[in-house]
Amino acid sequence: MLAASAALLNVNVVILDVGRSPAKQIIAPSSPSLAHIDGSFSDPAKIRELASKVDILTVEIEHVNVDVLDEVEKAGNVQVHPSPSTIRIIQDKFRQKEHLLSYKIPVAESLSVVSSVEAVHAAASTLGLPLMLKSKTLAYDGRGNFVLREFSQAQEAITFLGDRPLYAERWVPFSKEIAVMVVRTTSGEVKSYPVVETVHKSNVCHLVFAPLRSRDPTLSSRARAVAEKAIQSLDGAGVFGVEMFLLENGELLVNEIAPRPHNSGHYTIEACETSQYENHLRAILSLPLGSTAMKVPSSVMLNILGASSSMFELTTFTNFALTVPGASVHLYGKSECRSGRKMGHITLVGDSDAQIRSRLRLLLEKLPGGSS
Ligand code: ATP
Ligand code: MG
Ligand code: MG
Repeated sequence: MLAASAALLNVNVVILDVGRSPAKQIIAPSSPSLAHIDGSFSDPAKIRELASKVDILTVEIEHVNVDVLDEVEKAGNVQVHPSPSTIRIIQDKFRQKEHLLSYKIPVAESLSVVSSVEAVHAAASTLGLPLMLKSKTLAYDGRGNFVLREFSQAQEAITFLGDRPLYAERWVPFSKEIAVMVVRTTSGEVKSYPVVETVHKSNVCHLVFAPLRSRDPTLSSRARAVAEKAIQSLDGAGVFGVEMFLLENGELLVNEIAPRPHNSGHYTIEACETSQYENHLRAILSLPLGSTAMKVPSSVMLNILGASSSMFELTTFTNFALTVPGASVHLYGKSECRSGRKMGHITLVGDSDAQIRSRLRLLLEKLPGGSS
């Protein structure tokens, strides 16, 4: 999606990823010397090769080799956005929480824990049950989370989370999950997108409703202010996703920050004046930012997760989606479908929340794997 936006601005893009990855299918190399690179975004040699081909380097995932990003930036031939120091803070979710706390940004109480039954028991005694045990690193789509409901599950949790460093987080009985995309320019100006409501299923983002509706007239401005303050505390340009918990009493806690375009901002492609992707490019290229305002009254994004290995089942569903008014289908060009894999998304736009919800119902009835 970033590559598609870059193509419209005549921005040459070189992609480092394995094989025929989705982004490489979108944008052809503009010259043989700017050919895409096959390899891992954690491989030092491949990152150095990428840096030698570009003026500005950016990431779409935080699980990259940040030491090498530091090295290529310090060598002075390439700008890296967001700053490697920001990626380093965000890569470690516990360190990220400590950083946010040092800027007085509210987060759930958490404790570093070693991987032993005694340490997990001690954390559960301090923070209570249920307890959210999380991997500090390499977490995505809830794959580094374990909900400890009883002391007796401690060993199961440690085995499930593997040999990654762990921390424990106090359980948050949120009433809603919300998110705000924020874009930050090279000169440090920040601009936020409307607040959205995110609905997760088994720890994975399922739906995003934009804009968030609330009876609390202060919520939207409070959430945007918290998100902007969080991003002001970090260095470097680009878009960031700020995930938050809304409590019953209206309080907000930041869950985590993504230093890149984010699933909660996919809706911006059809529903906002400027998409998160285009504004990410504008920010890192020092071009004027575009408006973050919505251009439709209401929208919802539905993630398409694989229900099985069947591509046929998937395209039967997306072909049906093409018949739903206001629906835009995005398939990512992944070569294999697997249960639980993010294969694409659909954005619905409409004149009202009621219209969006009735169109969404049509999609949910046919969603492979069910909608509940
Ligand atoms: P992402 O794909 O967003 O990067 P992740 O693997 O980093 O996900 P988190 O965002 O930490 O995981 O958690 C995933 C989901 O688990 C949250 O969106 C929320 O629904 C739930 N969750 C996380 N932390 C807590 C908590 N402390 N209390 C209650 N629920 C939580
Ligand atoms: Mg995460
Ligand atoms: Mg998350």
